[in-house]
Amino acid sequence: MNIPFSPPYIDEDVINEVIDSLKSGWITTGPKVKALEDGIAEYTGAPKVVAVNSWTSGAILSLRWLGLKEGDEVIVPAYTYCATAMAVMDAGGVPVMVDINQDISIDVDAIRKAITSKTKAILPVDVGGWPCDYSAIIDLVNEPGIRKMFTANSDVQSKIGRIMIISDAAHSFGATADGRSMGTTGDINIFSLHAVKNLTSAEGGAICLNLPIPFDNEEIYKLFRVLSLNGQTKDALDKAKAGGWRYDIIAHGLKINMPDMNAAVALAQLRKYDYLLMERKRVFYRYCAALSKHDWAILPAQDRENQTSSYHIFALRIKGITESQRDKIIEEIAVSGVAVNVHYIPMPMLTLFKNLGYDINKYPISYDTYIREISLPIYPQLTDDQVDFVINSLENAYTKILNNA
Ligand SMILES: *Cc1c(COP(=O)(O)O)cnc(C)c1O
Repeated sequence: MNIPFSPPYIDEDVINEVIDSLKSGWITTGPKVKALEDGIAEYTGAPKVVAVNSWTSGAILSLRWLGLKEGDEVIVPAYTYCATAMAVMDAGGVPVMVDINQDISIDVDAIRKAITSKTKAILPVDVGGWPCDYSAIIDLVNEPGIRKMFTANSDVQSKIGRIMIISDAAHSFGATADGRSMGTTGDINIFSLHAVKNLTSAEGGAICLNLPIPFDNEEIYKLFRVLSLNGQTKDALDKAKAGGWRYDIIAHGLKINMPDMNAAVALAQLRKYDYLLMERKRVFYRYCAALSKHDWAILPAQDRENQTSSYHIFALRIKGITESQRDKIIEEIAVSGVAVNVHYIPMPMLTLFKNLGYDINKYPISYDTYIREISLPIYPQLTDDQVDFVINSLENAYTKILNNA
């Protein structure tokens, strides 16, 4: 049986929505992008949403707007996809990496220890779709001592008056924590709409603006829209209208707008997102039920009263194995036709970051998670039979590799 790791969800409704965009004669940023932005705002409760062409570009835009100066620091977990840290570097800041908890979320005590007078933002990452402890992070940045240490060097920084929380919600569309939907837990919350993510536009990102008073999210939305179009005051649709040719460039923006053709894919998925999430949940709990009988299986964090996942990744860990045994188990599973993955190689182990002086020895939980982690396929299209096949492949691979040890 051939089981891919994460194929996109493309049904007739998605195809028809894209065809509709093509036939409309308008393929770049226009009505479908607007409908997607409004739909995500409605689904998550975020006050305003700006669609862009990736999570990465959305994070760079947000951090540039925050006004990072040379030497400014942004705290990120060591255990994430490299884009989290690279967006900080692209916006002129220094990523300060901290370790994670056993549930793979960023360690809030480690954040506290890493805060300095140069800290301008924290980028918590909801790895696998499991929300970070936002209540604790919000309390932390509002502590009088921490606020006092904050040194504002830009208008935006003066206005917020504390460390900004920009959540990397690349995985967590549809997850909830403490009665809040992802998209509303940080000051800015960014979803990735990349092809492997829960909700996708092939490539894309959605910036959820949830800025506190005195910010006006409506006004910041308009600014971000302009900044995503090279700083141009009119988008292509406005300029295409008769007599609408004149425009101005009011700031040094980026060119990162989302095309309507892409928005169409996500728009059709969004309409049935409750169903898609329910199907992911089915797969997630089928794995949990089957694997909980093995004492070697460390299951990912499971829903509880105040915290629910978006079931983006099934991050299984295996007790008592070495990195090379993990690799052999993956090879053995691949022989059966099942594609699995590892989330993540901690950033300090990647050449770029190693060369910059980051040292994996400072992140023991990230390292320990990495060596024993195997991500199992999880998506709505997986049938129960396929899930059982994956479980069987894993069990056989484990037995074979560990008995030959
Ligand atoms: C996918 C991903 C990103 C980057 O998203 P793009 O839309 O590809 O830029 C960032 N952070 C995490 C945790 C991701 O998984």
